[in-house]
Amino acid sequence: MVRERITKPDSSSVVEVLSNPDDGSILLTSINKVIGWFQANSIWPMTFGLACCAIEMMSLTASRFDLSRFGSEVFRASPRQADLMIISGRLSWKMAPIARELYEQMPFPKWVISMGACASCGGVFTTYAIVHGADHILPVDIYVPGCPPRPEALLDAIIKLQKKIKTGTYVAQGLKEGRR
Ligand code: SF4
Repeated sequence: MVRERITKPDSSSVVEVLSNPDDGSILLTSINKVIGWFQANSIWPMTFGLACCAIEMMSLTASRFDLSRFGSEVFRASPRQADLMIISGRLSWKMAPIARELYEQMPFPKWVISMGACASCGGVFTTYAIVHGADHILPVDIYVPGCPPRPEALLDAIIKLQKKIKTGTYVAQGLKEGRR
């Protein structure tokens, strides 16, 4: 029996196709990768905007950029129905405990994108009132540079996050920690 691996051994590939000229082809995958594939294509961001970057985030859902092509246009008003927090703008220390509480209320698995210079490092706001990096209070998965980042940059971050989720590592991590 001759088997030929058709797909590249890429960690983001959901299935591995083994071609068998005698019996046809076989698709192989793991349950973690299938769940990861479902999750990656139905990321629901939380309705959460902090400053000017939020305008760019909002425009991503409009017809010009059409975030719904990637299954993420459903911005939820409740953190309990969302699995992506986009830190879109400067985060003040006064707002930090509220952002952390909202993050805690999101069900597992959940992800965080730090959008723009202010969210990632404080940007031009070198004052004591601003958190100089959202990673001080939240586990950031993807950083988006720029002031403001273009909607395409945020779209690119969401696509990169999808690739990370498709590996299925978040599912394995959640099962290991007994989280839902
Ligand atoms: S990075 Fe620029 S656009 Fe974004 S919140 Fe800061 S000042 Fe506003």
